[in-house]
Amino acid sequence: MAELLIPPAQQLIDGEWASARDKGELPVTDPATGQTIQAVARAGRADVDDAVAAARRAFPGWAATSPSERGALLRRWAELIGRHVEELAAHEARDVGKPLSGGRMNVYIAQGIVDYFAGAADKLTGVTLPTRSPGYLGYTVQEPYGVCAVVIPWNVPSVLTAANVAPALAAGNTVVLKPSEVAPLAPLALAELARRAGFPPGVLNVLTGEGAEAGAALTSHPGVNHISFVGSTATGRAIMRAAAENLVPVKLELGGKSPNVLFADADMDVAIPAIVGSITENAGQNCYAGSRLLVEASVKDEVVERIAAAMRAVRLGPWDADLDMGPLISEAQYRRVLGFLEEAPREGARLVTGGGPAREWAGERAGGRPDGWFVEPTVFDDVDPGSRLYREEVFGPVLAVQAFSGTAQAVEMMNDTDFGLLACVWTNDVSRALRLAGEVRSGQVSVNQFADAGVIGFPFNMQKDSGFSRGGGHGAMREYTQEKGVAIRL
Ligand code: NAD
Repeated sequence: MAELLIPPAQQLIDGEWASARDKGELPVTDPATGQTIQAVARAGRADVDDAVAAARRAFPGWAATSPSERGALLRRWAELIGRHVEELAAHEARDVGKPLSGGRMNVYIAQGIVDYFAGAADKLTGVTLPTRSPGYLGYTVQEPYGVCAVVIPWNVPSVLTAANVAPALAAGNTVVLKPSEVAPLAPLALAELARRAGFPPGVLNVLTGEGAEAGAALTSHPGVNHISFVGSTATGRAIMRAAAENLVPVKLELGGKSPNVLFADADMDVAIPAIVGSITENAGQNCYAGSRLLVEASVKDEVVERIAAAMRAVRLGPWDADLDMGPLISEAQYRRVLGFLEEAPREGARLVTGGGPAREWAGERAGGRPDGWFVEPTVFDDVDPGSRLYREEVFGPVLAVQAFSGTAQAVEMMNDTDFGLLACVWTNDVSRALRLAGEVRSGQVSVNQFADAGVIGFPFNMQKDSGFSRGGGHGAMREYTQEKGVAIRL
């Protein structure tokens, strides 16, 4: 099996590795050390034109392949991902700064997603419609859009590549992917594997470059037929404005401020580690991170104490030490998170643990002072519901705790947010769990677990300022197709 090399300072356009036409290159750094890992191409407008043109040329041929052929290629891609897990995991972990085991988990998730859409490719159907009288036939067909632009952030690059590229390709679209400028290596490596799997040139193109330049040029390009964006709410708004000019449909998966709602009757031995994991995994840099803990007042003190002890036990280190938590992605993110930590006590929150830059690495390099962007896992109690810490996405390992009394107040507080991504309910009372699941305004709900473990094809959907999309599961095939109605007089 050939090694999975990404040529320095290049991107993948029309089935070939290519340098940027005129913008040079961008360094990609390890956030634990600040050292450069390698350079990638710095895409500009000319590269965007090339990639969109390649995708447009490839579209008619690709759309004309049978769904089973597309499924077979996706299956081959998934197999190749499975054979390169370690290399892909190292790219994902080093780029983002997460522990290697976290990178490995993301690659397995990506492989599972590609495999799922390999199976879904030939199961996309239209419907036949009822008619007013005999002598008519009405039916619908699902057709691909054409060229899909996919723009993703840096936190889980392999998962987000798979989750958006695989359904778009399965449905017969071609794709121009723009990963984040700070974590492009896993997406490039995945695209190289797609090339080796046999996807024709131009079907999947990857442009590496900055958001304000390559991202903006791609999402405002008149040759693009559908835009899929995953990232911050602010950038989502900018992209939607750009898309309005070309009247192009947009799928948005944006930020979150997800609550864990913990009732006194929950199984605490299951809930507490899961709640800690929900805000420390990937250093809290997940859109669905459990950043708010709403806990029944009668057990709050005991719960906060147990959570604080578990947070203090989280071991920090660089990606290759493979401990529990790595650094934040960048200096900008580090300064932003420290800003929240400094402001929270002034807004009335009570610091329970953490609260600043991490002073030591754990593990083999114990005691060594981290030179990367490490912050301590942090818990604030009694957080004012009007404060920035309670209302804004921090994107760091910072938990905001609030007490509630009774189910009605739990529902009210759960919904007291601009975001609507995920809500997790912890209780052994089934009726109460069903009531909360029904009344919460979020795209996803999980009960007695964090997120959707154990469910296949779970819809990764959003409400409110978290965006709107039909991601994950079979709904994604519909997201990447347009429905055509046909009416015939026989
Ligand atoms: P970001 O919005 O800064 O950047 C995301 C992507 O958009 C990057 O590729 C960037 O280069 C590009 N971009 C930036 N400005 C652009 C512009 N004007 N036009 C076009 N593209 C542009 O987000 P980020 O800091 O990379 O990621 C963190 C955010 O992503 C958080 O808000 C997080 O919640 C969100 N996120 C959401 C989901 C989800 O499924 N809802 C998943 C992961 C992350």
